[in-house]
Amino acid sequence: MKSNLLSACRSGVVVCDGAMGTQLIQRGLTPGECGMKWNRERPDDVRAVHSAYSQAGCRLITTNSFGGTRSMLDRHGLGEHVVDWNKNAAVLARDAAGPDGWVFGDVGPFGDFLEPVGDMTEAGLLGIFGEQITALVEGGADAILVETMSDPGEAAVGVRAAKSVCGLPVAVTYAFQKSGPDFRTMMGTSARDAVAAALEAGADIVGANCGTDLSLDDYIALASELKAAAGDAIVILQPNAGAPKNTPEGVLYDASPEEMADTALRLRDAGVSIIGGCCGTTPLHLAAMAKALA
Ligand SMILES: [Zn+2]
Repeated sequence: MKSNLLSACRSGVVVCDGAMGTQLIQRGLTPGECGMKWNRERPDDVRAVHSAYSQAGCRLITTNSFGGTRSMLDRHGLGEHVVDWNKNAAVLARDAAGPDGWVFGDVGPFGDFLEPVGDMTEAGLLGIFGEQITALVEGGADAILVETMSDPGEAAVGVRAAKSVCGLPVAVTYAFQKSGPDFRTMMGTSARDAVAAALEAGADIVGANCGTDLSLDDYIALASELKAAAGDAIVILQPNAGAPKNTPEGVLYDASPEEMADTALRLRDAGVSIIGGCCGTTPLHLAAMAKALA
């Protein structure tokens, strides 16, 4: 029988998956199109991406539900599908994760700012996140991932929403950028304050994903900072495939699978317990990382 995710993280490294959006674009999703739609209209393609990561050795499979809150779907005029698409996102990840894998129910930013910067109230946002998370849990999520956060207040509401609708473990990841020698979120929050806000809200796992202009060495330094701030809490890191390069075709992340495998080992040595990938990572990168960590 599959073990509890939190105890697995305490006894070794759990390998999470890599990027979803770029994989769907390779399968024909047009930039700007709502990828959530594919959970119902192109389920075989979504399942195939999950399966590729699962076969690469990823035991934690993340649902295709970034941008899946009602507030984000409303931008495409598709808010009415919020429950169906999120539930099916979890069903597809569940299919691919297999009996030994876990499903990470993915929740991204709601797309605006909380009061007083924006118009959203905490109560309103609790409802928005709660609606999405409830559907992800119904579809079979084993844990909830509140990801790519910049505002610790929003992250905290995400954690509280999850804790109010289910008893599953909750992870928070922030996107950081370099600010002098420090790492800050887009809202200017330090790694230490970001971690504290997530843990105070009740998060079981905390860390970073994605980020702006970070090198692989930066991710190692960031991991050490997060680990120091997190104390006994479990730390997760999902780096991009190296620093972004501007090319005529757009921004490219081109670290090799070997470089990512080396990064995975260094993250492990820095005390990270869940290691995956973000922008530019593919099943090939994750396979090299999982092999190195095995
Ligand atoms: Zn990313």
